[in-house]
Amino acid sequence: MSYTIVSDVCEAKADCIPVCPVDCIKWAEDGSSKKKNTKGTDYTYIENDTCIDCGACLAACPVEGAILDEWKPEMQKV
Ligand code: SF4
Ligand code: SF4
Repeated sequence: MSYTIVSDVCEAKADCIPVCPVDCIKWAEDGSSKKKNTKGTDYTYIENDTCIDCGACLAACPVEGAILDEWKPEMQKV
């Protein structure tokens, strides 16, 4: 399983990145530049093969609904 970052809800606060114990939250990038979501902000995604479902990212994220405690690949762009 894996948690999910809802790409178009994420506001690029990045509070999630340092708390992940397995370093599986990454910036969505296109070459050397960061991609933008529909809000016009950078966004992150979770590498679902590595995520261990610990919940630390969800606890740290200040944006309501940006992280889901289940795997919904259709909500998460990379
Ligand atoms: S998921 Fe939450 S904490 Fe992580 S970058 Fe997006 S808004 Fe920030
Ligand atoms: S649930 Fe835990 S392991 Fe998975 S992305 Fe969030 S912090 Fe990382």
